[in-house]
Amino acid sequence: MTKAPKISFEFFPPKDIEACFSLFETLQVLGDMVPEFVSVTYGAGGTTRELTHDAVALLHRKYGWNVAAHLTCVNATREETLAIAKGYKDAGVNEIVALRGDPPKGQGKFTPAEGGFANSAELIAALKATGDFKIRVGAYPDPHPDAVDANSDITWLKQKFEAGADSAITQFFFDPNTFFRFRDRCAKEGITGTIIPGILPITSWKGVQKFAAACGTPVPARYAEEFEASEDHQALAIELCTGLCEALIAEGVEDLHFYTLNRPTLTKAVCANLEVI
Ligand code: FAD
Repeated sequence: MTKAPKISFEFFPPKDIEACFSLFETLQVLGDMVPEFVSVTYGAGGTTRELTHDAVALLHRKYGWNVAAHLTCVNATREETLAIAKGYKDAGVNEIVALRGDPPKGQGKFTPAEGGFANSAELIAALKATGDFKIRVGAYPDPHPDAVDANSDITWLKQKFEAGADSAITQFFFDPNTFFRFRDRCAKEGITGTIIPGILPITSWKGVQKFAAACGTPVPARYAEEFEASEDHQALAIELCTGLCEALIAEGVEDLHFYTLNRPTLTKAVCANLEVI
């Protein structure tokens, strides 16, 4: 039998009362699990600065989980960004998912804030220099919309590891071969750091198509046929996600990072199928 994978979860910080209940319910469902770490996103454009801080502090304090706080370069000077990191440290958080971030809505292209970090590698290097954090970064098995050529996601990831990243978490994907090809190309480029596949259980078939298009992630054609034919989308989503995870584990993947979207049912069911629980 293959070894059970190490798992981790991504959560959103809640923006309103309804979202607070979603996170609370998510924690009710997943709170008894023992993830390697959990991570909390940082709203696009820095919009959840305080909420992310408060959520990571609470998760660390209340659940004793290893928490990774996301942090981006958007809309903040270097000093402001590093002050946010210091706030994480003071709250007992010693992991950061360090990202460049997407441009604020309406701005097509990422432009550094005045006095801000110009890119993710600069942020990673500055965080590394503090000596306070384990640093995780993003990786893109399907081309990132900003990739200038077929290799730039790999060469840039290498620069992020050289700047001080300890591990990478990938954007979600649905075809395991996409990950295997990416992993092979990274190895060929000399990247030796851990690359953790990001797994998105499909909680909404309609929603995921929009989300995937925005991220540049292809959805296999057979998914459309299967969701169209299915009367139980939840059962199908669990089956597809379990199949993806099993294919990854069969090829030696040891860690899986679940994008829970604060909707934990599918994540919990897939973990049960993988005998992680
Ligand atoms: P980078 O890796 O820095 O850049 C993305 C790609 O652009 C690179 O692979 C490369 O092809 C190209 N590129 C960028 N800069 C250069 C350069 N200087 N030289 C050459 N090529 C370059 N967004 C949020 O707002 N909040 C979050 O909490 C959040 N969490 C995320 C978590 C994960 C695991 C992932 C994968 C993404 C997350 N995002 C989040 C989305 C992320 O902010 C966007 O994908 C953003 O556009 C890129 O950020 P990055 O740090 O991954 O980019």
